[in-house]
Amino acid sequence: MTGTTPTPTPSTLPTRSPPTNTTILISGAGIGGLFTALECWRLGFTVRILERAAFSSAQGDSVTIGPSALSSLRNWPWLHGRNLEITETPLLYYCNHRGERLSGPIDMDAVVASGRVYMHARPRLHEMLLTQLRACGVEVEYGRKVVGYYEDEGRGKGGVVVQGGERVEGDVVVAADGVHTRSWELVQGEEVGARSSGHGILRAAFGVDVAMADEAVRERWPLEEGGRAVVELWVGPDVYCTFLRSKDRFTWTLTHPDHGTAEESWSHKVDVEEALKFTAKIPDFPDYANRLIKLTPPDKLIDWKLMWRDPNSQWTSPGGRVIQLGDAAHSFLPSSGNGGTQAIEDAISLATCLSLAHTTHQPLPLALRIHNLLRFERVSCLQAFGVLNRDARNTKNNDPKDKKHEVRLGKWIVEHDPEVYARERWDEAVRCVGEGREKEWRNGNVPKGMVYVPWTIDGLMEARGRGERTVLDGDWS
Ligand SMILES: Cc1cc2nc3c(=O)[nH]c(=O)nc-3n(C[C@H](O)[C@H](O)[C@H](O)COP(=O)(O)OP(=O)(O)OC[C@H]3O[C@@H](n4cnc5c(N)ncnc54)[C@H](O)[C@@H]3O)c2cc1C
Repeated sequence: MTGTTPTPTPSTLPTRSPPTNTTILISGAGIGGLFTALECWRLGFTVRILERAAFSSAQGDSVTIGPSALSSLRNWPWLHGRNLEITETPLLYYCNHRGERLSGPIDMDAVVASGRVYMHARPRLHEMLLTQLRACGVEVEYGRKVVGYYEDEGRGKGGVVVQGGERVEGDVVVAADGVHTRSWELVQGEEVGARSSGHGILRAAFGVDVAMADEAVRERWPLEEGGRAVVELWVGPDVYCTFLRSKDRFTWTLTHPDHGTAEESWSHKVDVEEALKFTAKIPDFPDYANRLIKLTPPDKLIDWKLMWRDPNSQWTSPGGRVIQLGDAAHSFLPSSGNGGTQAIEDAISLATCLSLAHTTHQPLPLALRIHNLLRFERVSCLQAFGVLNRDARNTKNNDPKDKKHEVRLGKWIVEHDPEVYARERWDEAVRCVGEGREKEWRNGNVPKGMVYVPWTIDGLMEARGRGERTVLDGDWS
């Protein structure tokens, strides 16, 4: 499905900062880990990256990445061009649960005030990052499962224990190993509790030829004018599904009440019968949609459990040598549309802070604490956004005409530039963290005018139930 991946030539590599003699050790070669490796390499650090999987995890369906993350590709000529080649720019329709189109086509490029939202086949995005990293001379070390983290403040090292007992160290260790990271023990002392949201999401992606073999499916989902892809969002009572047809792949998702079939794992495959059990209960669910579901090849359907976690403000270990990043620091529900974007923003912010510490002769642990300070509130606001979006989607009185289902991305989300932000706020943050005045810090990358108030999922739901103000009541435009 991915075709041949062109290779970057040495002349397309970015200008690299002078070597820093500092090693950044990363656990996890997901989108967050790979981007961290790239940005740290560009800024002159030595990079090592350990990955549990035996080989590249080029799996998954669609992932949406916002301009706040991919604006950084200005520093990467090959990535910049390749990203434009592989992105899909579908036209969007809102439909009811019978598949009748209610509004659209909406140009996905028009849903953001500035910049562009990139919709990618995750395997292609992953492969693009891996290819660039290889061209930088960095190879992912596969089959290396990290089972523990430690730090030695005296020697100024962070380290990981790899399954089998080997210890590997770096000047800084980045835990980018996803929602089940083992880094919480060192960083927070206790794991951030995860609990089921009560729903799971069935997700599949496969070659479009398989889907187009069925006449009813072919007629229902032609390409749009100019060969553009089409994405449909189906909303109805207790129904939330998406269908994406592009020139070479088909993706569908179905959010469902979880009766114990789903797992929080990207390798948890289920049979299409599981999906058909749910669609059988949707009144007037069209036959062509069931036919499409039945065409899903074996081993292509994942049932991902939608888990809730309260925000975790502490991403940095006590000695400042280990930091959590991406999903390891903050898990997202797909309804936030922000998991990939925030992992990349984290990567850019962290690499920038490490580089600034190097050039301004500040200690590396301070860089980690500043990065944590610059990032946590923004990420936490977006996590809250995802919780409420999901809550709005799966209700008995789901009305497809309700504006709450529309894709909304405020300026504060899309116009942020994590590299510029870290550079602009660095000196001020050095003074603030150095003097232990973090409580006085005000971030400028959150909704305008917001003064962040810590929240929990229970508190958020209860406050909204009582009609009280919450973290979501700032200016989100
Ligand atoms: C196989 C896979 C498929 C996905 N498919 C989709 C999708 O279709 N749509 C979507 O929106 N999101 C998908 N995601 C999630 C999405 O990519 C992430 O939520 C987001 O990009 C944040 O990235 P991350 O790097 O923080 O975490 P992840 O992308 O989860 O990456 C974590 C990486 O760490 C590795 N790892 C885990 N434990 C260890 C360990 N103990 N030691 C070493 N390495 C470890 C994992 O194998 C993985 O490569 C998928 C993730 C994976 C791993």
